[in-house]
Amino acid sequence: MKILQKVLDDCIKRNPGEPEFHQAVTEVLESLEPVAQKHPEWVAAGIFDRIIEPERQIIFRVSWVDDNNVVRVNRGFRVQYNSAIGPYKGGIRLHPSVNLSIIKFLGFEQIFKNSLTGLPIGGGKGGSDFDPKGKSEGEIMRFCQSFMTELYRHIGENTDVPAGDIGVGAREIGYMYGQYKRIRNEFTGVLTGKGIPWGGSLARKEATGFGLCYFMNAALRDRNESFEGKTVVVSGSGNVAIYAASKATELGAKVVAMSDSNGYVYDPEGIDLDAIKQIKEVERKRIKEYISYRPNATYTEGCKNIWTIPCDIALPCATQNELDLDSAKTLIANGCKAIGEGANMPSTAEAIAYIQESGILFAPAKAANAGGVATSALEMSQNSMRYSWTFEEVDAKLKGIMENIYKNASAAAKNYGMEGNLVAGANIAGFEKVAQSMYAQGVAY
Ligand code: NDP
Repeated sequence: MKILQKVLDDCIKRNPGEPEFHQAVTEVLESLEPVAQKHPEWVAAGIFDRIIEPERQIIFRVSWVDDNNVVRVNRGFRVQYNSAIGPYKGGIRLHPSVNLSIIKFLGFEQIFKNSLTGLPIGGGKGGSDFDPKGKSEGEIMRFCQSFMTELYRHIGENTDVPAGDIGVGAREIGYMYGQYKRIRNEFTGVLTGKGIPWGGSLARKEATGFGLCYFMNAALRDRNESFEGKTVVVSGSGNVAIYAASKATELGAKVVAMSDSNGYVYDPEGIDLDAIKQIKEVERKRIKEYISYRPNATYTEGCKNIWTIPCDIALPCATQNELDLDSAKTLIANGCKAIGEGANMPSTAEAIAYIQESGILFAPAKAANAGGVATSALEMSQNSMRYSWTFEEVDAKLKGIMENIYKNASAAAKNYGMEGNLVAGANIAGFEKVAQSMYAQGVAY
Protein backbone atom coordinates (compact mmCIF):
# COMPACT_ATOMS: atom_id res chain seq x y z
CA MET A 1 0.00 0.00 0.00
CA LYS A 2 1.30 3.47 -0.86
CA ILE A 3 -1.38 6.01 -0.10
CA LEU A 4 -3.35 4.18 2.59
CA GLN A 5 -0.49 2.67 4.64
CA LYS A 6 -0.34 5.74 6.88
CA VAL A 7 -4.12 5.66 7.39
CA LEU A 8 -3.82 2.02 8.49
CA ASP A 9 -0.76 2.64 10.72
CA ASP A 10 -2.50 5.55 12.46
CA CYS A 11 -5.65 3.47 12.94
CA ILE A 12 -3.74 0.61 14.56
CA LYS A 13 -1.83 3.03 16.81
CA ARG A 14 -4.97 4.84 17.87
CA ASN A 15 -6.91 1.62 18.64
CA PRO A 16 -4.49 -0.61 20.57
CA GLY A 17 -5.50 -4.11 21.63
CA GLU A 18 -8.29 -4.46 19.06
CA PRO A 19 -7.10 -7.32 16.80
CA GLU A 20 -10.44 -8.10 15.10
CA PHE A 21 -10.90 -4.42 14.28
CA HIS A 22 -7.35 -4.18 12.87
CA GLN A 23 -7.99 -7.30 10.77
CA ALA A 24 -11.16 -5.87 9.22
CA VAL A 25 -9.65 -2.43 8.52
CA THR A 26 -6.48 -3.93 7.03
CA GLU A 27 -8.44 -6.07 4.59
CA VAL A 28 -10.63 -3.20 3.44
CA LEU A 29 -7.85 -0.62 3.10
CA GLU A 30 -5.67 -3.06 1.16
CA SER A 31 -8.37 -3.49 -1.44
CA LEU A 32 -9.14 0.24 -1.55
CA GLU A 33 -5.59 1.30 -2.49
CA PRO A 34 -6.42 1.42 -6.24
CA VAL A 35 -9.52 3.48 -5.42
CA ALA A 36 -7.38 5.98 -3.50
CA GLN A 37 -5.08 6.21 -6.52
CA LYS A 38 -8.01 6.89 -8.83
CA HIS A 39 -9.72 9.43 -6.52
CA PRO A 40 -7.18 11.92 -5.10
CA GLU A 41 -10.13 14.20 -4.22
CA TRP A 42 -11.37 11.56 -1.74
CA VAL A 43 -7.90 11.31 -0.21
CA ALA A 44 -7.75 15.11 0.10
CA ALA A 45 -11.20 15.21 1.70
CA GLY A 46 -10.01 12.71 4.34
CA ILE A 47 -12.64 10.13 3.33
CA PHE A 48 -10.37 7.18 4.20
CA ASP A 49 -9.32 8.64 7.56
CA ARG A 50 -12.92 9.47 8.42
CA ILE A 51 -14.56 6.23 7.34
CA ILE A 52 -12.48 4.13 9.75
CA GLU A 53 -13.42 6.31 12.74
CA PRO A 54 -16.92 5.60 14.13
CA GLU A 55 -19.22 8.61 14.25
CA ARG A 56 -20.19 7.63 17.79
CA GLN A 57 -19.33 4.82 20.26
CA ILE A 58 -21.55 4.22 23.27
CA ILE A 59 -20.49 1.94 26.13
CA PHE A 60 -22.89 1.46 29.01
CA ARG A 61 -23.60 -0.52 32.16
CA VAL A 62 -26.34 -3.14 32.02
CA SER A 63 -27.31 -4.26 35.50
CA TRP A 64 -30.00 -6.84 36.14
CA VAL A 65 -31.11 -9.26 38.86
CA ASP A 66 -30.81 -13.02 38.34
CA ASP A 67 -33.25 -15.71 39.57
CA ASN A 68 -31.39 -15.95 42.90
CA ASN A 69 -31.81 -12.22 43.49
CA VAL A 70 -28.11 -11.64 42.82
CA VAL A 71 -27.24 -8.38 41.07
CA ARG A 72 -25.32 -8.95 37.81
CA VAL A 73 -23.44 -6.37 35.76
CA ASN A 74 -22.67 -6.60 32.04
CA ARG A 75 -21.29 -4.13 29.55
CA GLY A 76 -23.39 -2.87 26.64
CA PHE A 77 -22.10 -1.40 23.37
CA ARG A 78 -23.54 0.46 20.41
CA VAL A 79 -21.17 1.70 17.74
CA GLN A 80 -22.86 4.11 15.32
CA TYR A 81 -20.32 3.88 12.59
CA ASN A 82 -21.46 5.71 9.49
CA SER A 83 -24.71 7.44 8.54
CA ALA A 84 -23.72 8.83 5.12
CA ILE A 85 -26.37 6.86 3.21
CA GLY A 86 -29.05 6.21 5.85
CA PRO A 87 -29.81 5.54 9.53
CA TYR A 88 -27.31 3.30 11.33
CA LYS A 89 -28.30 -0.33 10.93
CA GLY A 90 -26.73 -3.49 12.31
CA GLY A 91 -27.37 -6.29 14.77
CA ILE A 92 -27.00 -6.71 18.51
CA ARG A 93 -24.76 -9.58 19.61
CA LEU A 94 -25.06 -11.25 23.02
CA HIS A 95 -22.02 -13.46 23.62
CA PRO A 96 -19.37 -13.56 26.38
CA SER A 97 -16.65 -12.78 23.79
CA VAL A 98 -18.17 -9.38 22.93
CA ASN A 99 -15.84 -6.41 23.42
CA LEU A 100 -15.25 -3.08 21.69
CA SER A 101 -12.88 -4.60 19.11
CA ILE A 102 -15.49 -7.10 17.97
CA ILE A 103 -18.31 -4.57 17.83
CA LYS A 104 -16.11 -2.14 15.88
CA PHE A 105 -15.02 -4.77 13.35
CA LEU A 106 -18.65 -5.77 12.84
CA GLY A 107 -19.83 -2.15 12.59
CA PHE A 108 -17.08 -1.28 10.12
CA GLU A 109 -17.93 -4.25 7.86
CA GLN A 110 -21.59 -3.33 8.13
CA ILE A 111 -21.02 0.04 6.37
CA PHE A 112 -19.93 -1.67 3.15
CA LYS A 113 -22.39 -4.54 3.40
CA ASN A 114 -25.33 -2.20 3.86
CA SER A 115 -24.18 -0.05 0.97
CA LEU A 116 -23.91 -3.14 -1.26
CA THR A 117 -27.59 -3.95 -0.71
CA GLY A 118 -28.46 -0.80 -2.69
CA LEU A 119 -30.82 0.24 0.13
CA PRO A 120 -30.57 3.45 2.22
CA ILE A 121 -28.96 2.12 5.41
CA GLY A 122 -25.83 3.29 7.26
CA GLY A 123 -23.56 1.05 9.34
CA GLY A 124 -23.70 0.24 13.06
CA LYS A 125 -23.45 -2.67 15.49
CA GLY A 126 -24.04 -3.37 19.16
CA GLY A 127 -24.08 -6.01 21.80
CA SER A 128 -23.07 -7.13 25.24
CA ASP A 129 -20.80 -9.65 26.95
CA PHE A 130 -23.94 -11.19 28.50
CA ASP A 131 -24.01 -14.98 27.97
CA PRO A 132 -27.56 -16.15 27.21
CA LYS A 133 -26.55 -19.84 27.60
CA GLY A 134 -28.10 -21.44 30.66
CA LYS A 135 -30.17 -18.37 31.55
CA SER A 136 -33.87 -18.70 32.37
CA GLU A 137 -36.60 -16.97 30.35
CA GLY A 138 -37.01 -14.44 33.15
CA GLU A 139 -33.28 -13.68 33.23
CA ILE A 140 -33.15 -13.19 29.46
CA MET A 141 -36.15 -10.86 29.67
CA ARG A 142 -34.75 -8.78 32.52
CA PHE A 143 -31.39 -8.48 30.81
CA CYS A 144 -32.98 -7.38 27.49
CA GLN A 145 -35.16 -4.84 29.28
CA SER A 146 -32.22 -3.39 31.17
CA PHE A 147 -30.16 -3.25 27.96
CA MET A 148 -32.93 -1.27 26.23
CA THR A 149 -33.43 1.02 29.22
CA GLU A 150 -30.14 2.65 28.24
CA LEU A 151 -30.12 1.97 24.49
CA TYR A 152 -33.52 3.57 23.79
CA ARG A 153 -32.17 7.11 24.09
CA HIS A 154 -29.62 6.52 21.30
CA ILE A 155 -31.83 4.84 18.68
CA GLY A 156 -34.96 5.60 16.64
CA GLU A 157 -36.59 4.63 13.36
CA ASN A 158 -34.78 7.47 11.54
CA THR A 159 -31.59 7.38 13.61
CA ASP A 160 -30.44 3.85 14.34
CA VAL A 161 -32.38 0.61 13.82
CA PRO A 162 -30.74 -2.42 15.53
CA ALA A 163 -31.52 -6.06 14.68
CA GLY A 164 -30.51 -9.53 15.87
CA ASP A 165 -27.13 -11.26 15.64
CA ILE A 166 -25.49 -14.08 17.60
CA GLY A 167 -27.59 -14.75 20.71
CA VAL A 168 -30.39 -12.40 19.63
CA GLY A 169 -33.39 -13.90 17.87
CA ALA A 170 -37.09 -13.06 17.80
CA ARG A 171 -37.45 -13.71 21.55
CA GLU A 172 -34.80 -11.17 22.57
CA ILE A 173 -35.97 -8.64 19.95
CA GLY A 174 -39.46 -9.02 21.46
CA TYR A 175 -38.29 -8.18 24.99
CA MET A 176 -36.24 -5.24 23.76
CA TYR A 177 -39.06 -3.93 21.57
CA GLY A 178 -41.56 -4.22 24.42
CA GLN A 179 -39.29 -2.17 26.67
CA TYR A 180 -38.69 0.49 23.99
CA LYS A 181 -42.42 0.84 23.45
CA ARG A 182 -43.09 1.12 27.16
CA ILE A 183 -40.52 3.88 27.60
CA ARG A 184 -41.29 5.86 24.42
CA ASN A 185 -45.01 5.22 24.11
CA GLU A 186 -44.71 4.78 20.38
CA PHE A 187 -45.09 1.89 17.95
CA THR A 188 -42.37 2.43 15.36
CA GLY A 189 -40.00 0.26 13.37
CA VAL A 190 -37.09 0.89 15.75
CA LEU A 191 -35.88 -2.73 15.65
CA THR A 192 -35.99 -5.32 12.88
CA GLY A 193 -36.32 -9.06 13.22
CA LYS A 194 -39.64 -8.49 14.99
CA GLY A 195 -42.34 -11.17 15.26
CA ILE A 196 -44.70 -11.34 12.30
CA PRO A 197 -47.85 -10.23 14.22
CA TRP A 198 -46.17 -7.06 15.50
CA GLY A 199 -44.38 -5.58 12.51
CA GLY A 200 -41.86 -8.23 11.46
CA SER A 201 -41.23 -9.10 7.84
CA LEU A 202 -41.98 -12.49 6.39
CA ALA A 203 -38.76 -14.18 5.22
CA ARG A 204 -36.53 -12.14 7.60
CA LYS A 205 -35.69 -15.25 9.62
CA GLU A 206 -34.66 -17.13 6.48
CA ALA A 207 -33.04 -14.15 4.75
CA THR A 208 -29.33 -14.42 5.60
CA GLY A 209 -29.10 -18.15 4.87
CA PHE A 210 -31.31 -17.99 1.79
CA GLY A 211 -29.46 -14.89 0.58
CA LEU A 212 -26.10 -16.64 0.96
CA CYS A 213 -27.32 -19.44 -1.31
CA TYR A 214 -28.79 -17.00 -3.84
CA PHE A 215 -25.42 -15.24 -3.97
CA MET A 216 -23.50 -18.51 -4.30
CA ASN A 217 -25.90 -19.74 -6.95
CA ALA A 218 -25.33 -16.60 -9.04
CA ALA A 219 -21.56 -16.95 -8.65
CA LEU A 220 -21.65 -20.68 -9.47
CA ARG A 221 -23.85 -20.02 -12.51
CA ASP A 222 -21.17 -17.65 -13.84
CA ARG A 223 -18.79 -20.62 -13.66
CA ASN A 224 -21.30 -23.00 -15.29
CA GLU A 225 -21.86 -24.69 -11.94
CA SER A 226 -24.73 -25.02 -9.46
CA PHE A 227 -25.69 -26.54 -6.09
CA GLU A 228 -27.25 -29.53 -7.88
CA GLY A 229 -25.71 -32.79 -6.65
CA LYS A 230 -23.04 -31.04 -4.55
CA THR A 231 -21.93 -32.07 -1.05
CA VAL A 232 -22.05 -29.13 1.37
CA VAL A 233 -20.65 -28.56 4.87
CA VAL A 234 -22.26 -25.79 6.94
CA SER A 235 -20.73 -24.71 10.24
CA GLY A 236 -22.98 -23.43 13.01
CA SER A 237 -26.59 -24.41 13.65
CA GLY A 238 -28.06 -21.00 14.38
CA ASN A 239 -30.22 -18.71 12.32
CA VAL A 240 -27.84 -18.30 9.38
CA ALA A 241 -26.68 -21.94 9.27
CA ILE A 242 -30.13 -23.51 9.42
CA TYR A 243 -31.58 -21.49 6.54
CA ALA A 244 -28.41 -21.75 4.44
CA ALA A 245 -28.61 -25.52 4.81
CA SER A 246 -32.31 -25.43 4.00
CA LYS A 247 -31.89 -23.43 0.76
CA ALA A 248 -28.82 -25.41 -0.34
CA THR A 249 -30.87 -28.60 0.07
CA GLU A 250 -33.76 -27.08 -1.88
CA LEU A 251 -31.33 -26.20 -4.68
CA GLY A 252 -30.30 -29.85 -4.97
CA ALA A 253 -27.28 -30.13 -2.68
CA LYS A 254 -26.71 -32.59 0.17
CA VAL A 255 -25.66 -30.97 3.47
CA VAL A 256 -23.64 -33.55 5.41
CA ALA A 257 -22.38 -31.68 8.49
CA MET A 258 -23.33 -28.90 10.92
CA SER A 259 -21.90 -27.73 14.25
CA ASP A 260 -22.30 -25.66 17.38
CA SER A 261 -19.64 -24.23 19.65
CA ASN A 262 -19.13 -27.64 21.31
CA GLY A 263 -18.76 -29.94 18.31
CA TYR A 264 -20.11 -31.10 14.97
CA VAL A 265 -22.36 -33.80 13.55
CA TYR A 266 -21.67 -35.69 10.34
CA ASP A 267 -24.57 -37.36 8.60
CA PRO A 268 -23.49 -38.95 5.29
CA GLU A 269 -27.11 -39.46 4.25
CA GLY A 270 -27.80 -35.74 4.49
CA ILE A 271 -28.66 -33.64 7.54
CA ASP A 272 -32.26 -33.86 8.77
CA LEU A 273 -33.06 -30.17 9.19
CA ASP A 274 -36.29 -30.78 11.08
CA ALA A 275 -34.24 -32.51 13.77
CA ILE A 276 -31.75 -29.61 13.89
CA LYS A 277 -34.59 -27.07 14.16
CA GLN A 278 -36.24 -29.07 16.94
CA ILE A 279 -32.96 -29.27 18.90
CA LYS A 280 -31.70 -25.70 18.33
CA GLU A 281 -34.81 -23.56 17.75
CA VAL A 282 -37.37 -25.31 19.94
CA GLU A 283 -35.47 -27.12 22.72
CA ARG A 284 -32.37 -24.85 22.66
CA LYS A 285 -30.14 -27.88 23.31
CA ARG A 286 -26.69 -28.94 22.08
CA ILE A 287 -26.15 -30.33 18.59
CA LYS A 288 -24.86 -33.65 19.95
CA GLU A 289 -28.54 -34.53 20.61
CA TYR A 290 -28.80 -35.01 16.83
CA ILE A 291 -27.40 -38.55 17.00
CA SER A 292 -30.45 -39.67 18.96
CA TYR A 293 -32.55 -38.73 15.90
CA ARG A 294 -30.24 -40.30 13.30
CA PRO A 295 -28.45 -43.54 14.21
CA ASN A 296 -26.02 -43.34 11.25
CA ALA A 297 -24.80 -39.87 12.17
CA THR A 298 -21.67 -39.27 14.26
CA TYR A 299 -20.82 -36.52 16.73
CA THR A 300 -17.29 -35.17 17.24
CA GLU A 301 -16.37 -32.92 20.14
CA GLY A 302 -14.68 -29.63 19.10
CA CYS A 303 -15.89 -27.65 16.10
CA LYS A 304 -12.74 -26.84 14.10
CA ASN A 305 -12.40 -30.28 12.50
CA ILE A 306 -15.69 -29.89 10.68
CA TRP A 307 -13.54 -28.61 7.78
CA THR A 308 -11.81 -32.00 7.48
CA ILE A 309 -15.03 -33.47 6.05
CA PRO A 310 -14.70 -33.60 2.24
CA CYS A 311 -17.18 -31.36 0.44
CA ASP A 312 -17.69 -29.45 -2.81
CA ILE A 313 -19.00 -26.30 -1.12
CA ALA A 314 -18.19 -25.00 2.39
CA LEU A 315 -20.44 -22.46 4.08
CA PRO A 316 -18.94 -21.14 7.35
CA CYS A 317 -21.98 -19.76 9.21
CA ALA A 318 -20.94 -19.73 12.91
CA THR A 319 -18.56 -16.96 13.95
CA GLN A 320 -15.43 -14.91 13.20
CA ASN A 321 -12.10 -16.61 12.48
CA GLU A 322 -13.55 -20.13 12.57
CA LEU A 323 -11.80 -21.15 9.33
CA ASP A 324 -8.02 -20.82 9.53
CA LEU A 325 -5.17 -21.55 7.13
CA ASP A 326 -4.98 -25.25 8.06
CA SER A 327 -8.71 -25.64 7.53
CA ALA A 328 -8.49 -23.88 4.16
CA LYS A 329 -5.65 -26.18 3.07
CA THR A 330 -7.57 -29.27 4.14
CA LEU A 331 -10.78 -28.19 2.43
CA ILE A 332 -9.03 -27.51 -0.87
CA ALA A 333 -6.90 -30.67 -0.69
CA ASN A 334 -10.18 -32.60 -0.24
CA GLY A 335 -11.63 -31.10 -3.44
CA CYS A 336 -13.66 -28.13 -2.16
CA LYS A 337 -14.52 -25.85 -5.11
CA ALA A 338 -16.34 -22.97 -3.44
CA ILE A 339 -16.45 -21.24 -0.06
CA GLY A 340 -19.25 -18.82 0.85
CA GLU A 341 -19.10 -16.87 4.10
CA GLY A 342 -22.42 -16.81 5.96
CA ALA A 343 -20.91 -15.64 9.26
CA ASN A 344 -19.10 -12.32 9.59
CA MET A 345 -15.34 -12.63 8.91
CA PRO A 346 -15.31 -16.42 9.49
CA SER A 347 -12.06 -16.88 7.55
CA THR A 348 -8.72 -15.62 8.83
CA ALA A 349 -6.66 -13.31 6.59
CA GLU A 350 -4.17 -16.15 5.94
CA ALA A 351 -6.99 -18.52 4.98
CA ILE A 352 -8.44 -15.98 2.53
CA ALA A 353 -5.06 -15.39 0.90
CA TYR A 354 -4.57 -19.14 0.44
CA ILE A 355 -8.11 -19.70 -0.90
CA GLN A 356 -7.78 -16.85 -3.38
CA GLU A 357 -4.41 -18.11 -4.60
CA SER A 358 -5.90 -21.54 -5.19
CA GLY A 359 -8.39 -19.94 -7.61
CA ILE A 360 -11.57 -21.52 -6.19
CA LEU A 361 -14.72 -19.42 -5.77
CA PHE A 362 -14.56 -17.33 -2.59
CA ALA A 363 -17.60 -15.27 -1.58
CA PRO A 364 -16.78 -12.80 1.22
CA ALA A 365 -19.23 -12.19 4.06
CA LYS A 366 -19.98 -8.59 3.43
CA ALA A 367 -21.43 -9.47 0.03
CA ALA A 368 -22.62 -13.04 0.58
CA ASN A 369 -24.40 -12.57 3.92
CA ALA A 370 -25.98 -9.18 3.15
CA GLY A 371 -29.40 -10.81 2.68
CA GLY A 372 -30.25 -10.46 6.37
CA VAL A 373 -29.72 -6.75 6.56
CA ALA A 374 -31.29 -6.25 3.13
CA THR A 375 -34.46 -7.90 4.38
CA SER A 376 -34.25 -5.86 7.57
CA ALA A 377 -34.30 -2.78 5.35
CA LEU A 378 -37.36 -4.25 3.60
CA GLU A 379 -38.90 -4.65 7.08
CA MET A 380 -38.22 -0.94 7.69
CA SER A 381 -39.95 -0.07 4.39
CA GLN A 382 -43.00 -2.16 5.30
CA ASN A 383 -43.13 -0.55 8.76
CA SER A 384 -43.03 2.96 7.29
CA MET A 385 -45.82 2.06 4.89
CA ARG A 386 -47.73 0.26 7.68
CA TYR A 387 -48.14 -2.57 5.20
CA SER A 388 -46.74 -6.08 4.71
CA TRP A 389 -45.60 -7.98 1.70
CA THR A 390 -46.13 -11.72 1.25
CA PHE A 391 -43.32 -14.22 1.82
CA GLU A 392 -42.99 -14.66 -1.94
CA GLU A 393 -42.74 -10.90 -2.53
CA VAL A 394 -39.99 -10.46 0.06
CA ASP A 395 -38.14 -13.58 -1.09
CA ALA A 396 -38.23 -12.41 -4.72
CA LYS A 397 -36.84 -8.98 -3.72
CA LEU A 398 -34.12 -10.70 -1.65
CA LYS A 399 -33.13 -12.89 -4.58
CA GLY A 400 -32.93 -9.85 -6.87
CA ILE A 401 -30.82 -7.95 -4.32
CA MET A 402 -28.35 -10.83 -3.87
CA GLU A 403 -27.94 -11.31 -7.62
CA ASN A 404 -27.30 -7.59 -7.97
CA ILE A 405 -24.70 -7.63 -5.21
CA TYR A 406 -22.90 -10.41 -7.03
CA LYS A 407 -23.10 -8.50 -10.30
CA ASN A 408 -21.84 -5.23 -8.75
CA ALA A 409 -19.01 -6.86 -6.78
CA SER A 410 -17.85 -8.78 -9.86
CA ALA A 411 -18.05 -5.68 -12.04
CA ALA A 412 -16.08 -3.55 -9.54
CA ALA A 413 -13.34 -6.21 -9.37
CA LYS A 414 -13.16 -6.26 -13.17
CA ASN A 415 -13.11 -2.44 -13.44
CA TYR A 416 -10.07 -2.31 -11.19
CA GLY A 417 -8.26 -5.11 -13.02
CA MET A 418 -8.89 -7.83 -10.39
CA GLU A 419 -11.41 -10.02 -12.19
CA GLY A 420 -12.88 -12.77 -10.01
CA ASN A 421 -11.62 -11.20 -6.77
CA LEU A 422 -14.91 -10.76 -4.93
CA VAL A 423 -13.18 -9.60 -1.73
CA ALA A 424 -11.80 -6.52 -3.48
CA GLY A 425 -14.93 -6.15 -5.62
CA ALA A 426 -17.27 -6.11 -2.61
CA ASN A 427 -15.08 -3.69 -0.66
CA ILE A 428 -14.80 -1.31 -3.61
CA ALA A 429 -18.46 -1.45 -4.70
CA GLY A 430 -19.63 -0.95 -1.10
CA PHE A 431 -17.13 1.84 -0.45
CA GLU A 432 -17.72 3.94 -3.57
CA LYS A 433 -21.32 4.82 -2.77
CA VAL A 434 -20.50 5.77 0.83
CA ALA A 435 -17.44 7.77 -0.26
CA GLN A 436 -19.47 9.74 -2.84
CA SER A 437 -22.06 10.52 -0.16
CA MET A 438 -19.52 11.58 2.47
CA TYR A 439 -17.77 13.74 -0.12
CA ALA A 440 -21.04 15.42 -1.13
CA GLN A 441 -21.99 16.04 2.50
CA GLY A 442 -18.72 17.86 3.33
CA VAL A 443 -16.57 17.93 6.45
CA ALA A 444 -18.04 19.35 9.66
CA TYR A 445 -15.92 22.27 10.84
P1 NDP B 1 -26.96 -17.69 16.19
O1 NDP B 1 -26.74 -17.26 17.58
O2 NDP B 1 -28.33 -18.00 15.72
O3 NDP B 1 -26.05 -18.96 15.86
C1 NDP B 1 -24.68 -18.94 16.00
C2 NDP B 1 -24.16 -20.35 15.75
O4 NDP B 1 -22.74 -20.32 15.73
C3 NDP B 1 -24.56 -21.32 16.82
O5 NDP B 1 -24.65 -22.61 16.26
C4 NDP B 1 -23.39 -21.23 17.79
O6 NDP B 1 -23.21 -22.37 18.58
C5 NDP B 1 -22.22 -21.08 16.84
N1 NDP B 1 -21.13 -20.31 17.47
C6 NDP B 1 -21.22 -19.11 18.11
N2 NDP B 1 -20.02 -18.75 18.61
C7 NDP B 1 -19.18 -19.74 18.29
C8 NDP B 1 -17.81 -19.97 18.52
N3 NDP B 1 -17.07 -19.07 19.22
N4 NDP B 1 -17.28 -21.09 18.02
C9 NDP B 1 -18.02 -21.98 17.31
N5 NDP B 1 -19.33 -21.82 17.07
C10 NDP B 1 -19.89 -20.73 17.56
O7 NDP B 1 -26.28 -16.55 15.27
P2 NDP B 1 -26.52 -16.23 13.75
O8 NDP B 1 -26.77 -17.49 13.00
O9 NDP B 1 -27.48 -15.13 13.66
O10 NDP B 1 -25.11 -15.63 13.34
C11 NDP B 1 -24.03 -16.44 12.87
C12 NDP B 1 -23.03 -15.56 12.15
O11 NDP B 1 -23.68 -14.91 11.04
C13 NDP B 1 -22.42 -14.43 12.97
O12 NDP B 1 -21.12 -14.18 12.52
C14 NDP B 1 -23.31 -13.24 12.61
O13 NDP B 1 -22.64 -12.01 12.83
C15 NDP B 1 -23.52 -13.51 11.14
N6 NDP B 1 -24.66 -12.84 10.54
C16 NDP B 1 -25.92 -13.02 11.02
C17 NDP B 1 -26.99 -12.43 10.40
C18 NDP B 1 -28.40 -12.70 10.81
O14 NDP B 1 -29.31 -12.28 10.09
N7 NDP B 1 -28.64 -13.42 11.89
C19 NDP B 1 -26.80 -11.50 9.28
C20 NDP B 1 -25.44 -11.43 8.80
C21 NDP B 1 -24.43 -12.06 9.44
P3 NDP B 1 -23.81 -22.41 20.08
O15 NDP B 1 -25.26 -22.72 19.93
O16 NDP B 1 -23.02 -23.46 20.74
O17 NDP B 1 -23.54 -21.05 20.67
